[in-house]
Amino acid sequence: PVRVRFCPSPTGNPHVGLVRTALFNWAFARHHQGTLVFRIEDTDAARDSEESYEQLLDSMRWLGLDWDEGPELGGPHAPYRQSQRMDIYQDVAGKLLAAGHAYHCYCTTEELDARRDAARAAGKPSGYDGHCRDLSDGRKSAYEAEGRTSIVRFRMPDEAITFTDLVRGDITVQPENVPDYGIVRANGAPLYTLVNPVDDAMMDITHVLRGEDLLSSTPRQIALYRALIELGVAKQTPEFGHLPYVMGEGNKKLSKRDPQASLNLYRERGFLPEGLLNYLSLLGWSIAEDRDIFDIDEMVAAFDIEDVNANPARFDLKKCEHVNAEHVRRLDVKTFTEACGPWLRAPFAPWAPEAFDADLFAAIAPHAQTRVTVLSEITANVDFLFLDEPATDEASWAKAMKEGSDALLVTARAKLADAEWNADALKNAVLTAGEEHGLKLGKAQAPVRVAVTGRTIGLPLFESLEILGREKTLARVDAALA
Ligand code: GLU
Repeated sequence: PVRVRFCPSPTGNPHVGLVRTALFNWAFARHHQGTLVFRIEDTDAARDSEESYEQLLDSMRWLGLDWDEGPELGGPHAPYRQSQRMDIYQDVAGKLLAAGHAYHCYCTTEELDARRDAARAAGKPSGYDGHCRDLSDGRKSAYEAEGRTSIVRFRMPDEAITFTDLVRGDITVQPENVPDYGIVRANGAPLYTLVNPVDDAMMDITHVLRGEDLLSSTPRQIALYRALIELGVAKQTPEFGHLPYVMGEGNKKLSKRDPQASLNLYRERGFLPEGLLNYLSLLGWSIAEDRDIFDIDEMVAAFDIEDVNANPARFDLKKCEHVNAEHVRRLDVKTFTEACGPWLRAPFAPWAPEAFDADLFAAIAPHAQTRVTVLSEITANVDFLFLDEPATDEASWAKAMKEGSDALLVTARAKLADAEWNADALKNAVLTAGEEHGLKLGKAQAPVRVAVTGRTIGLPLFESLEILGREKTLARVDAALA
């Protein structure tokens, strides 16, 4: 059975690259009716925060990416926070030391740096040189007597490591490129290099799907796995698949610090989880050559890791918005109305809470649903219904009010006042008013729109006037003329 894991470190805000990793693991697990393990890699007390942990859980829930084992749910391999598993790592480190798969390394940073620089200058491999690999007991005691501390270092085998990456195919790494590496700090704190594969082993992870930035750690982890199998800690080495880089502006890797990378930004702007997930699924994968829009269920049915493309994927905000807009269109209108809720209240809504009228909103919602890209756009599109006076600015006003606009407004006002109050009749009123002034409908409706809604663009004007009502519409035209 497939067992995959999503194992972020709770540092900072979740970003879209992380969500893409979560999504691919989730979809892979669901496609294969497997298990998604959610594990929190919080062994770095200096960088991890409880707030970030809470945000991770909250983000996963918002996205609808459910997990089968992990925080709050528990499971057969609990606990799922590495900070609560320290005794396990200590125990495994002890076993690796006892079996000779790891050793104490007493080299100081200065010594390591000096030897690395010398190796570089001589054109030799500059990784750890194995200095402490086979220290005699006498040397060890001497180092300790000097007051040196030691880290625990894993002893890499002196042979090439070959594996088949599920995305990238066969990869072989020569031993000189994978030097012995630290697994426990001098203060006893276990490192990512140890805890991540140990947990994958103990949690019976079958497939490790993660970002390409971690590809270089895979040969080391495979070597560690082999040692863990020998010690009876691991049953098997998982398969690895490295997801392509996500590139941002200017074809640079999208960095966590890039504002465009922050998941919270997408939530605040009113992306739908299904729209965002649909877009993120396209970063390295596709359902079919000519199809960009699909539901998560379709993704689950079609997703497999072999279909992931190794080439870097480009994060394109415009495309992301477009995909989201398509999902907004797909909602039934009731769901759309409910989803808009947060943007119809403080702090987003500029109108007084009691000014909001659910019936008016229900009437305008279908017109808005076909036009907004993200839900936060709803506020500016409907505020004319709930504000006492339409929100406007000089630039919009100047753009719409030309010479002759007043005269047009006077005529339009008279025709609107006489019209039956429905969109067709209102359109006809403005159309005929325009004809009298030699203006096409588009030109004639611009001053009406800015007078009544405050804006130069917005929802279909005549439906908007119908919903706003005769009294307010005429009063606003009068105010514009005053
Ligand atoms: N905690 C690691 C990270 O967030 C996990 C890496 C992995 O998937 O192995 O980078």
